Amino acid sequence: MNYTSTRDNSVKVSAAYAIATGISPDGGLYVPEAIPALSYEELLAVAKTDYRDRAVSVLGKYLTDFTEEELRECVDGAYTGKFGGEDVAPVVDIAENRFVLELWHGPTCAFKDMALQLLPHLLTRSVKKTCDGKEIVILVATSGDTGKAALEGFKDVPGTRIIVFYPVEGVSAIQKKQMVTQEGGNVGVCAISGNFDDAQTGVKRIFTDPETAAELAKGNMAFSSANSINWGRLAPQIVYYISAYADLMNKGVIKNKGDEVNVVVPTGNFGNILAAYYAKKMGLPIGKLICASNANNVLTDFLRTGVYDRNRHFYTTVSPSMDILISSNLERLLYDLSGCDSARVKGWMDSLAATGRYEVDDDVKAAIKELFWAGCCDDEATLATIGEVFASQHYLSDTHTAVALNVYEQYVKEFGGDVPTIIASTASPYKFAPAVLSAVAREKITDDDFAMLENLNEVSGVAIPASLADLKGKAVRFDSVCGNDTQSMRATVLEMLGL
Ligand SMILES: *Cc1c(COP(=O)(O)O)cnc(C)c1O
Repeated sequence: MNYTSTRDNSVKVSAAYAIATGISPDGGLYVPEAIPALSYEELLAVAKTDYRDRAVSVLGKYLTDFTEEELRECVDGAYTGKFGGEDVAPVVDIAENRFVLELWHGPTCAFKDMALQLLPHLLTRSVKKTCDGKEIVILVATSGDTGKAALEGFKDVPGTRIIVFYPVEGVSAIQKKQMVTQEGGNVGVCAISGNFDDAQTGVKRIFTDPETAAELAKGNMAFSSANSINWGRLAPQIVYYISAYADLMNKGVIKNKGDEVNVVVPTGNFGNILAAYYAKKMGLPIGKLICASNANNVLTDFLRTGVYDRNRHFYTTVSPSMDILISSNLERLLYDLSGCDSARVKGWMDSLAATGRYEVDDDVKAAIKELFWAGCCDDEATLATIGEVFASQHYLSDTHTAVALNVYEQYVKEFGGDVPTIIASTASPYKFAPAVLSAVAREKITDDDFAMLENLNEVSGVAIPASLADLKGKAVRFDSVCGNDTQSMRATVLEMLGL
């Protein structure tokens, strides 16, 4: 199977090339030329296997230049023993027809692990297939979750180095501790005295700076990217929707061929819900794709009206991983719904870059209406939902998952709740303990984020994930702060690489 660009459909590259290079030179995103099919017989067969076997068979349809043996090595390296128990992505029945798909049992307690544990294995093999044995340097700018998940994924992976920049005041105490105590011989972490945008801008500039590239080449190194538009991060996410459906077949919730489920996803960059769309296109019986947003509801408006307009207030919310006004992966959906019309997609994306706004055509609007339903809620409603779901179902959810739970109840009010529904849960409640605790505890007991983990445990009875509980005693390895200008960041990168 070949991959093409959303902005130029004459492009033709292999999966390994798409993963090794990340983004097409025309600025478009790599997409499969055709979406492979999953038959009912295959679904019955994967239902009998475990998560890793399911991953090998689904990924094999997309990454056709990898052998089955290679994929098995990648999948074993990513998921064996790293996601708590046997069940990598368990489905929890919380109430009538409401099934929570927990995607956060990995090492950093957020769903980014599902893809970022696998990506390093795919990336190193992709580079071997397409480049010439260079050491890969991954640069990441993070607002919290991605940086830690990438560090854990790439830690001690031979042939790779990883450097993460985070805004010194912009991450939670727990997120900071997770990063500055990171173990591994090939990792580097540095705070910058600026905000996330400064970090992001600096990383992009260093990434494309020819002088830095020349310095790296001298040390036989080259940059690559682990950000969420890399196909190697999207493909692993398709697996868990198929796996969840298979689990519902095994539980007897799904009885007959073609029985539908709805899927609800708390959405930021549109990667997670796009994976559900691809699963549906492969033939998985998904009815509605329900897109849940927080107060940054640019996607709710878009999916309802066909007008994308980022010219609006940016809210800082209790679900920070969804605080985003440009949802990059939406471009892949538009490519598909426009009938692979890369000229039209390029027009919309050019308009977005120039004016912050575009409006899709009637054919795309009609397709969206058929496939999606969208809703949003603010912080007050998010916290109220955490409290209500805990009180009524004794299920503790994090702030991002709570947005999905809230939006699903909005959907049920309008359309009823007869269809079994998979609700994607994207983080452990402990990762956002201060907000979650304020939603379920009567009074505030402490200002210390680590004491809050224990308080939340006392109030909820839910176990603290070991990787978070262990943090407190861990030694700080990275305490440097650099300036927010590209030169300081570049100097930090070269120093960390020993160049
Ligand atoms: C990244 C993230 C999201 C948003 O996922 P997208 O794929 O960007 O839509 C939601 N919740 C959590 C906890 C995240 O870390």
